[in-house]
Amino acid sequence: MSGQNLRPRGLIVAIDGPSGAGKSTITRHLAALLDYVHIDTGAMYRALALAVSRSGVPADDDAQVLAVCQRSTVAFCRKQGQICVTLNGEDVSDLIRTPEISLLTSHIAGMRGVRELLLTLQREMGHDGGVVLEGRDIGTVVFPDADVKFFLSASPEERGRRRYLELKAKGELVDLERTIAEVIARDKQDTGRDHAPLRQAEDAIAIDSTALSIDQVVERMAGVVKERQRSAGPAAA
Ligand code: C5P
Repeated sequence: MSGQNLRPRGLIVAIDGPSGAGKSTITRHLAALLDYVHIDTGAMYRALALAVSRSGVPADDDAQVLAVCQRSTVAFCRKQGQICVTLNGEDVSDLIRTPEISLLTSHIAGMRGVRELLLTLQREMGHDGGVVLEGRDIGTVVFPDADVKFFLSASPEERGRRRYLELKAKGELVDLERTIAEVIARDKQDTGRDHAPLRQAEDAIAIDSTALSIDQVVERMAGVVKERQRSAGPAAA
């Protein structure tokens, strides 16, 4: 019997890829379409980075950073139909999206101890299935036996442009060239680190979203997942 049939609530779907490839929006839509739970693992790393930033400990002191993370509680909640991330019970969904927190997140996400903390939590959240997890290492480390794996990418210029528009829409003062440079810097940190670097799992389906709309990507992914649900039987739906 395959592992799929043992999961009580449905399949485990992994979506990995670099920042700005559209993962969050696409995962949100796909999870809603499938009636699966959306787990944004990047938001979990971001919430810990906010805790580190607030604590004032030096970001390059691994032991102190880890101690702050161990004392912090990260969870998800639902507010007016939207999924929020909480840090020690406080909704920090907006506070974790600044460029400073993005870079700090990428830095602390390279620390083994920090990754181990979240790895345990992410496995607990997802192991029963019926979930779409997005991140950098879902298909390679967190759930190497995920039922469906996607690797979503887009050109750095397009990803920077999307991030720029997103920040601008929130009223932030941003510069396009600088945003593209930040995206490239984060790619470098995420792919170059020793622990769980960003890379495509061998069995992941690669999708380049540069010239595709969100709907087109979601439709393509949903088609693959539904096909897999059919072949796994009723328990996977
Ligand atoms: O996906 P998002 O851009 O919110 O992720 C923020 C940062 O968190 C990434 O740049 C990466 O360094 C880290 N991350 C990670 N592993 C994950 C998800 C996010 O290292 N599974």
